[in-house]
Amino acid sequence: MKALVKQHAEPGLWLMDVPEPDTGPGDVLIKVLRTGICGTDLHIRSWDGWARQAVSTPRVLGHEFVGEVAAVGADVQDIAVGDIVSGEGHLVCGKCRNCLAGRRHLCRSTIGLGVGRDGAFAEYVALPAANVWVHRTKVDLDIAAIFDPFGNAVHTALSFPLVGEDVLITGAGPIGIMAAAVARHAGARNVVITDVSEPRLDLARKAGATLALNVSEHDIAEAQRRLELREGFDIGLEMSGRPEAMRDMVDNMTHGGRIAMLGLPAQEFAIDWSKIVTSMITVKGIYGREMFETWYAMTVLLEGGLDLSPVITGSYDYQDFDAAFDEAANARSGKIILNWGA
Ligand SMILES: [Zn+2]
Ligand SMILES: [Zn+2]
Repeated sequence: MKALVKQHAEPGLWLMDVPEPDTGPGDVLIKVLRTGICGTDLHIRSWDGWARQAVSTPRVLGHEFVGEVAAVGADVQDIAVGDIVSGEGHLVCGKCRNCLAGRRHLCRSTIGLGVGRDGAFAEYVALPAANVWVHRTKVDLDIAAIFDPFGNAVHTALSFPLVGEDVLITGAGPIGIMAAAVARHAGARNVVITDVSEPRLDLARKAGATLALNVSEHDIAEAQRRLELREGFDIGLEMSGRPEAMRDMVDNMTHGGRIAMLGLPAQEFAIDWSKIVTSMITVKGIYGREMFETWYAMTVLLEGGLDLSPVITGSYDYQDFDAAFDEAANARSGKIILNWGA
């Protein structure tokens, strides 16, 4: 089968013929229909410091996908050939304290699809049945392809109650934009999102942000004045991993404010911890999705009319992966889809 492979420990990706994945009695074999390109995949293509320590070659990339079940193992129940499915890309150990307690997203031995094992940028991908999410109601295939990052957005946005609250999102990448849509849909009063890319701020406006602010020209305090906030933001969603964004966020939170942090900083950085203490701020780290509470929430949010279509800005045949990756890597784009045959 065709697959996008990190074949050599150097920058680049290779479209190659590889064997179909092996499946055991508890596994599901999935014919891939569409995939989403993630920042993780861009890191692996460019072979930066993180990728060098996280990935061993050769490795089939990709963790964001939708596909059709092609075969199920003898022990698999409730999943049938022909089902339309996406996959939870974090494979957990099932044995650690958190797994045993049902908190699988907190597993300390998580293996990432397309990072620590062969992924979904291929004609077929295999997953344990426990990682397969069956779309039991009709869903747009492009949206189904990005359930993994949509789940990051939902998990982050719904970390704290936000009905009637004023929400600040720093970083208008695809996940920040989806989080803005989720926060509005879920009942936030104001959703302010910041970035330095005007095209991405435009996407965030289309997705429902109350105010999309270019922080190279305006500061967040100005957004507070424009919206007539008097005491700061109640909820912060940090989506950029950038030190200055986190500092700005802390400076603009209300006392007792709560911050969910998904953006992954490239290195350690200083913040003024005295402000965290005296403003009595809670900071919560987010990694991945809750299995499968987040997945349930995603499905019912879409059934309830949540519109994510503004976040998808490009679609390519898998043979044109280089152009697709280049577009995904520029700061103007939303989510880019690769088509594998449907
Ligand atoms: Zn991803
Ligand atoms: Zn575990």
